[in-house]
This record gives sequence, structure tokens and C-alpha cells, in this order.
Amino acid sequence: MKDETKCLHSGYTPKNAEPRVVPIVQSTTYVYDSTEAVGAVFDEPTHSLIYSRFANPTVMAVENKIADLESGIGAMCTSSGQAATLLSILNLCNAGDSFISTSQIYGGTVNLFSYTLKKYDIECIFVDCDADESQIHAAFKPNTKLVFGETLANPALTVLDLEKFAKIAHAHNVPLIIDSTFATPVLCKPIEYGADIVVHSTSKYMDGHALQVGGVIIDSGNFDWSSGDFPMITTPDESYHGITYTDVYGKSAYIIKARMQLMRDFGVYPSAHSAFLLNLGLETLALRMQRYCENAIVVAKHLKASDKVESICYPGLEDDKYYALAQKYLKGASGVISFVVKGGKSAAIKFMDSLELASNQVHVADIRTCVLHPASATHRQLTDEQLVAAGVSPGMIRFSVGLEHIDDIIADIDLALKAL
Ligand SMILES: *Cc1c(COP(=O)(O)O)cnc(C)c1O
Repeated sequence: MKDETKCLHSGYTPKNAEPRVVPIVQSTTYVYDSTEAVGAVFDEPTHSLIYSRFANPTVMAVENKIADLESGIGAMCTSSGQAATLLSILNLCNAGDSFISTSQIYGGTVNLFSYTLKKYDIECIFVDCDADESQIHAAFKPNTKLVFGETLANPALTVLDLEKFAKIAHAHNVPLIIDSTFATPVLCKPIEYGADIVVHSTSKYMDGHALQVGGVIIDSGNFDWSSGDFPMITTPDESYHGITYTDVYGKSAYIIKARMQLMRDFGVYPSAHSAFLLNLGLETLALRMQRYCENAIVVAKHLKASDKVESICYPGLEDDKYYALAQKYLKGASGVISFVVKGGKSAAIKFMDSLELASNQVHVADIRTCVLHPASATHRQLTDEQLVAAGVSPGMIRFSVGLEHIDDIIADIDLALKAL
């Protein structure tokens, strides 16, 4: 089936006289006929419902839909995108291990990788997303467990050469984990280009309506864990009466370990109600992504043509540095544009404050057009010089194009440009 159909039908198939819409199963727990029946579910925990800290029918319907959309073998939802990234790493890295990440990743992920994981003795080695192959190979150490990157980076808007990174990771027998939040499975399915694990912040386009924070991890089922470097998957887990995940669960070892061990212990599972709302967003994802892309290219070309705009980044523009990679990997360049207005920080603030339709908010990928001025918000603590070093010029604006009529978005932009 095509994505439009999967968005509507995957994950839940009602039987005779069952509800048309996936029901909200708002219950912490599930009832069994006997003590023996309860005992038996602990022997097959992945196929049974025990407790809503790690399994719930509403959430699982959504997990199955997302796994299907990403061409994965299984998925697990989490209470935030941050939790998805964290668990995707902790599922493979113990204290004393390292991993490689591209530098062009979400700011919250930079914090997690550079500071917090370090406190737990997990080291992240950063490489530039455009580094040549030899530089990336040189970053590997004997304890390197995985490679991480973003398909279409937030906020840098760089496009990752997925096949190149998959090839390098696999040459070292480690999996490639891809955060594909800005692309969504509608614009790119990283597994088709060699990614082994995909994570998303569903808070962005997948939910789409700025309703709730959430995340998801998808397992391709393709990675061969048998090299000997992943004893956490290929040797008995004492916390689960000695199960060896690869022996019992084969290709699903990674995602089942994430649920049975990490979700059980950390408990960052979404509520049934959150999953229900996420599902509503997913139903229109294919339709919405198409329109975001259509609106964004018009906005990008309009901004580019303005003499008040100094520079613009949008990988859908033909002269963008990442246009060729976007053509190869993305079905559209998504809805986020970054641009710099002439006149620096004060001009950027003037532009933002002159917008009437677009809202000023610390969010992207909303159904409504929204803007953020990194220099006075997410990167506020930095001096002008530090901002330039961080790749955030003082006049830079991150513009997240919404689904309003394109004429109204353009009219709003013109109003703000005129104020400069
Ligand atoms: C927002 C975001 C995250 C973090 O997700 P939350 O749902 O806010 O925890 C991770 N990666 C990317 C690319 C994001 O845009």
C-alpha cells in the first residue's frame, strides 16, 4: 500500500462490530482469568499485555502504523523525542562505550550527547555531516557502538548522505541510527537507504497540530548483531530470567530489548490518550507533508527574491548546497526555512514582531506558520561572535511554513519585510 493508505489503515483493523476508530484503552492494567494465566504472560511478555508502563493497545496500534510507514519490523513509542533518542543509544551503549554523531543535529540532542551521557561515561565523538569518508573512519574506536545523524537537520537544514554513512557504519559492524523528524516517513524512509534504526520526535510533523510531545523508535530488523560487539543483545539478560534477545526474538531483538528492558526500567511510555491524538495527526500526514513542501518552496523563492534578505537555506532551492542530496533522498524539502535579513539582529526582531499571522513560538513543524529567532531565544546566552561560530547568524530567522493559504502567508511576510 502507498503512504496515504497506510496513514489511514495501518496498525488497526477492526473485526466484526468493533469500533471504526482505534479505541482509547485508558487502563493501567489488564485482567486475566487465573493466577496461572498472569504467570504465563511473564513468560511471553512481548505478546501479552501486562502493564501500561510499556504496553497499551492504543499505543501499540500507533506503533504498528509507524513501523509500517517506515518499512520497519517493529516500533516503540516514547513520551518525547528526547526519550526516543536516549533509549535508542542506551539500548546499545553501556558505561565505557562510545558512539559517533554528526555535528548537525537538534540542540537538545547536542546537550544529551555532549554533557549528560558523558556523566554516565558514554562518549560521543562528533563528525561533520560533510566530512569525507577517511575522516569519518578515523573517528571510530574499538568501543564505538553506533553512528547517529539527522536526515534533514534541525535547525541547520543540512541533508545527510544516508548511503555514505550506512556504508561506513556497516564497514565497522555498527548500526546507523537516524533521527528523521523533519523528513517524516512520507518524505524519506531512511531504512531504504541503509539505516538500521530510525527515531522521531513525533511532537513535530507527525503529530502536526502542536498537541503533545512524543517520540518513537523504529527497528529495521536488518542489522546483524552477531559480531560479538553487542553482548547486551546476544548474551543472557539476567533481569529477564536469562533471555538472550537474538536467540528468542531474532530480527526483532533490538526493539524488543528496548521495550522489555529499557521501557520497563525507565517507564517513558506515552499515555493511551496521547497515542490516540498522535494517530489522528498521522491519518493526514501524507496529505499535510505534500502541502508543507508546496507552500515552503513558494515562500523560499519569495524570500530569496527580496532585496531585504541577505541569505537563505532551504534544500528545495536549486542553488542550495544540499539540493542534490535532497533530490536523492527526499520526496520534498519539508516546511522549515532559515534565512538572514539584512541589518542583523535588530532587523530580524523587527521582521518577527511585524508578522501578524505567523506566531512567535518555540516550536517548529506546526500546522500553523510559526517563527523563531534563535539569537534571542534558543541561542540567547551567546554573544554575536559566538553566534557566528555556532552557525547562527544574529539576523537568522527560522521560519516554519504552515498550512494556511499560501497567499496569506506571503502577504504576512510582505508586511514584515516592508517594516524593515
Ligand atoms: C524536537 C526534536 C527532538 C526532540 O523531541 P521532543 O519531542 O521535543 O523531545 C529531537 N530531534 C529533532 C530533530 C527535533 O526536532
